[in-house]
Amino acid sequence: MIPFLDLHAHHAPRKAELMRAIEAVVDSGQFAGGPFVTRFELAFAKASGAREAVGVANGTDALMLSLWACGVGTGDEVITVPNSFFASAEAISLCGARPVFVDVLEDTATMDPSALERAITPATRAIIPVHLWGQTADMEPILAIARFHRLRVIEDACQAHGALYQGKPAGTLGDLGCFSFYPGKNLGAFGEAGAVITDNPDLAARVRILRDHGQTRKYHHGVVGINGRMDGIQAAVLEIKLRDLDQMNANRRRCAALYDERLADIPGLTLPTEQPGRHHVYHIYSVLVKERDHVLAEMGRQGVGCGIHYPVPIHLQPAYRGLGYLPGAFPVAERLTAHCLSLPIFPELTPPQIETVCRTLKGLLQSSACEIQADAVAS
Ligand SMILES: *Cc1c(COP(=O)(O)O)cnc(C)c1O
Repeated sequence: MIPFLDLHAHHAPRKAELMRAIEAVVDSGQFAGGPFVTRFELAFAKASGAREAVGVANGTDALMLSLWACGVGTGDEVITVPNSFFASAEAISLCGARPVFVDVLEDTATMDPSALERAITPATRAIIPVHLWGQTADMEPILAIARFHRLRVIEDACQAHGALYQGKPAGTLGDLGCFSFYPGKNLGAFGEAGAVITDNPDLAARVRILRDHGQTRKYHHGVVGINGRMDGIQAAVLEIKLRDLDQMNANRRRCAALYDERLADIPGLTLPTEQPGRHHVYHIYSVLVKERDHVLAEMGRQGVGCGIHYPVPIHLQPAYRGLGYLPGAFPVAERLTAHCLSLPIFPELTPPQIETVCRTLKGLLQSSACEIQADAVAS
């Protein structure tokens, strides 16, 4: 049995050190915000190449607080993509604004800059490109369009800790960068956590106030905010795990390279690509296959845990029926939805395990190709 993700294997070699860090928080009593969070913020800002990092409760709050800090609210529109985790759009709705979707590029599954211009209206305030699966969107044209129209750019880097675009870290390309430390992410907490990074001290200050009930001083509330603070325990765990992030990403890249090699040139199979000038951190290794649902079920039956990221595009979610998008609105995103299959990838995945995944997948694709040929002969 090869799991899709193995957090046990990931934490086992670090468990004693992580438990000691948790104990230090328990002994100090600094559970909500406080010095452990501040220490992690400094370390994460440094590692990300940003002036400031603000620890928050989760990645969704990171996005929502960033939009809020940019002044996005009722009546505004924010542009993002339909093939992402739901929270990329949900954060926009939580601010009272309207999500507007644009299609993605086939080869990276990230925002199509040429579709962006057409989606801009007088109500547009911001753009949220999503660095899906661990590779950044094509930021240069996106930033140029944003500058021309004076729009804020908030990067959804929730899957892209350590990814680079033309040598620059994900999250430092736009006005603010948002991260999730959900346990399964490339940098994962022992629960929920997130962060916002920015080089803009005013925006950082606003996020800090908004994450803490709009307090400028204890019990003095300048504005209405939320309880969006990071936990001390999560900060202590993350500070330790951050030290290994580059190594863990290097392991993921090695896994991806082995998949690339073993799965090359197989009819009916399209592999993910790393674009020139980008450093992909392979949060997800997603291939495209014809009979996806059949392959997914068979892989599971044969002991290989796979996933789909994501099975329903956001514009067709029941929650967004009111936005009025119909099937066919975003052909590329919808095609990806129908055919994408995420293979197991995590830093501790071994070459023999990868061989097994590849052998199983190849076997399935060959037998389903035979079936299709047999059907063609029969008819
Ligand atoms: C995980 C994720 C989020 C939300 O993060 P949470 O910490 O779960 O709130 C947002 N966007 C993307 C692309 C994600 O993968």
